[in-house]
Amino acid sequence: MSRAEPAAAPAADPIPLFDPKAQYTRLKAEIDARVADALARGAYVNGPEIAELEGRLAEIAGAPHCIACANGTDALTLALLADGIGPGDAVFVPAFTYVATAGAVRLAGAVPVFCDVDPESRTLDPADLDRQAERVRRSGRLTPRAVIPVDLYGLPADYPAIAPVARAHGLAVIADAAQSMGARLNAAPVGALAPVTTVSFYPTKPLACAGDGGAIFTDDAERAERLRSMRTHGTDASRTAARLGMNSRLDTLQAAVLLAKLPAMETERARRADLAARYRRALDGAVDPAADRDDAQSAWALYTVASDRREAIRSALAAQNIGNSVYYSRPVHLHPAYRAFGDGPGSLPVSEGLAERVLSLPLTADMTEDQVDRVAAAVRAAAGA
Ligand SMILES: *Cc1c(COP(=O)(O)O)cnc(C)c1O
Repeated sequence: MSRAEPAAAPAADPIPLFDPKAQYTRLKAEIDARVADALARGAYVNGPEIAELEGRLAEIAGAPHCIACANGTDALTLALLADGIGPGDAVFVPAFTYVATAGAVRLAGAVPVFCDVDPESRTLDPADLDRQAERVRRSGRLTPRAVIPVDLYGLPADYPAIAPVARAHGLAVIADAAQSMGARLNAAPVGALAPVTTVSFYPTKPLACAGDGGAIFTDDAERAERLRSMRTHGTDASRTAARLGMNSRLDTLQAAVLLAKLPAMETERARRADLAARYRRALDGAVDPAADRDDAQSAWALYTVASDRREAIRSALAAQNIGNSVYYSRPVHLHPAYRAFGDGPGSLPVSEGLAERVLSLPLTADMTEDQVDRVAAAVRAAAGA
């Protein structure tokens, strides 16, 4: 042989947990054109892209009104403030979520009351919501006002079971759909599952911009008007500050990026759903599969398994250059900033157990079947299956 052999077999190509660059490469022509257009027009705040995006999103989400804003945390905070929720009020949140869900409650001045999640769906447990709401009512110190179910990893929370519990306790339902734009439950899109729904366009979410972004959906015209005013300092058309507000607009450039990505959103979701089904088959019996429901189409923001051998699996994946991460390694009630609002370790056992066992694997529309098989094989081997 005249050709020199490489000294060692090349390491397998890395498989990233998220791959925003691959999506950009695939949609480059549309994104670049939209962004160039917005740059040339010069309306960097409140450009025409904002209303266009809001119209498109409202249609997709099955909601009469969409209000774009700066990020998903502001979306939640604005939703709470717009309904007059603040000091002295209790807002029920799952303990197993990103800290922003509870953070928004605190930013509005209200008190987060942590509920446990269902071990299968990993979303808010309606029975625990009922218990916690009853407990708050009996103690008489706070007014129960709202519940924020979270569509964890892209799977809609159990809204049909949550709604009657919320009604019985007089709670408004605000859906935290930061991870589930594009998902459906009983054929109804996220955005039509609750009177108020908030989403995030952070780069790792199912519909992502090139930075921070968010939106609020609602079925109520007056609430929509308040929210529009509140994202611009509480001002009205005559620039009079009618109420308290914040500066929380979506940038025109981010709206341009999102408009360019919208046509691909459902195709990408369907591709991730196919790859998720492939993971489920390949990992059968090795780990607890990602949560799913027969009556839902998850947005598949993440493919999150659970295992007692998580650390061994993580080491094996790292050794093979396979991205992975733990969402979330600590339930919210055990974070220093939120300890005062919970009852400490042992109080929310399902959330605390999941924090020890969950592991998110790469799942993007740009992955190949072979890559999914490579990840699954590494997981199976390390799980001892
Ligand atoms: C990402 C996220 C948020 C916050 O969204 P940002 O746009 O990052 O502010 C809120 N809740 C959940 C469940 C999230 O995953």
